[in-house]
Amino acid sequence: MNKIIIIGAGACGVYSALLIKQAHPNVDVLVLEAHKTPLKKLLATGNGRCNLSNKDLAITHYDSDNLALVKDIIDDFDMPKQMQKLGLYTKYMGQLLYPYSEQAKSVFRILMDRAQEAGVVFLYEQFVKSIRYQDGYIIETEHQRFHSDGVIVSVGSSAGKLSQVYDRRSLFTHLSFDYQDNSPSLTQMYTKEVYKTLKGVRMKGVFSLYQGKQLLKQEKGEMLFTNYGVSGIAIMQLSRYYQEGVTLVCDLLPDLSKEELANFLQRDLIHPLEGLVPYQLSDLLEKTHQDPISFLKQMTFHVKGIRESEYAQVEKGGLLLSNFNNDLESKDYPHFYAGGEILNVNGDCGGYNLHFAFASGYRIFKGLERNQNVKN
Ligand SMILES: Cc1cc2nc3c(=O)[nH]c(=O)nc-3n(C[C@H](O)[C@H](O)[C@H](O)COP(=O)(O)OP(=O)(O)OC[C@H]3O[C@@H](n4cnc5c(N)ncnc54)[C@H](O)[C@@H]3O)c2cc1C
Repeated sequence: MNKIIIIGAGACGVYSALLIKQAHPNVDVLVLEAHKTPLKKLLATGNGRCNLSNKDLAITHYDSDNLALVKDIIDDFDMPKQMQKLGLYTKYMGQLLYPYSEQAKSVFRILMDRAQEAGVVFLYEQFVKSIRYQDGYIIETEHQRFHSDGVIVSVGSSAGKLSQVYDRRSLFTHLSFDYQDNSPSLTQMYTKEVYKTLKGVRMKGVFSLYQGKQLLKQEKGEMLFTNYGVSGIAIMQLSRYYQEGVTLVCDLLPDLSKEELANFLQRDLIHPLEGLVPYQLSDLLEKTHQDPISFLKQMTFHVKGIRESEYAQVEKGGLLLSNFNNDLESKDYPHFYAGGEILNVNGDCGGYNLHFAFASGYRIFKGLERNQNVKN
């Protein structure tokens, strides 16, 4: 290959572009990006701190049609080591990996510096509308037509406010790929019970999602009350397991048994819950005369749905891995690769999705090297 076009300047696209160009300075590496600037979503990750990866990369944190391949790709990628090669120092804070500076902007600048030094060419405001294969690739944007020997599709998903919101599937109209419809994941929940006076209150606890009596998933963590339902990391994690008709049961005082709580409440005080729970919750219970023990130990929500992609961190669905070999090259179209969130792979909150975006870019690069697909 003498010319390769990468569609989408996100984590996967920029990383794979710079690796290829660093190794093969004579190959044309062109990145087409729909936005005016690259890496927009990366800048927003981890609340601007960029949670790059996690110490616990167990495959149970991911969903896909080929978990064995996902495991192989994520295990093969040592994020701290590969980031250090680019000049980015990282650190673990608990289980979570961040840039040492705790600024997503550092990751942005280092990736873009290395890409620029290597000579990767970026064209912005180039929204790719179609990809055709005719003895090479013809890529059409709203303004121009491009030709290349190979293509890497790294267009991410519609999740989050910063995404290009459109049906990713339409990009592949002229190619034949198996594609699973996209749906939001890692997002908030709409619930039948809404506690408006608790809006903005955060509580740590144990949260369980049930279908009837069957426990689907349990999470320990934080929940946030909102004016439409519930949010918070624990809730977003559980949204991955959402099905119609589920209920959410919350133990808001997991460190106290029902008996301990009952003893505590026997004290003859004006506001017995004061100091144990946020005052808004204590006021609500007093006003509504609800049984505090069942409310705090088994607060139940009937979940009406999960919030739309615009509010989500990732989307489920995308190009099935069954379309690709272990190097993420299409089984049908030569030198056609895909990486990152456009693939049918999604992970938990906690650095899993960025880990996969970078790791899949790395796998594509390694595959090109292994098969000597790129001319020097
Ligand atoms: C608010 C928020 C916080 C997050 N926090 C974390 C976190 O802390 N840790 C973590 O691991 N994950 C996090 N994620 C998820 C993570 O950001 C994504 O999974 C990851 O960025 C996906 O990388 P990607 O390269 O596949 O796609 P993206 O980074 O989304 O990049 C895709 C690029 O392709 C461009 N594009 C799309 N369509 C076209 C087209 N037709 N033509 C040209 N260009 C196109 C887009 O404009 C975009 O620049 C977060 C997501 C959100 C929304």
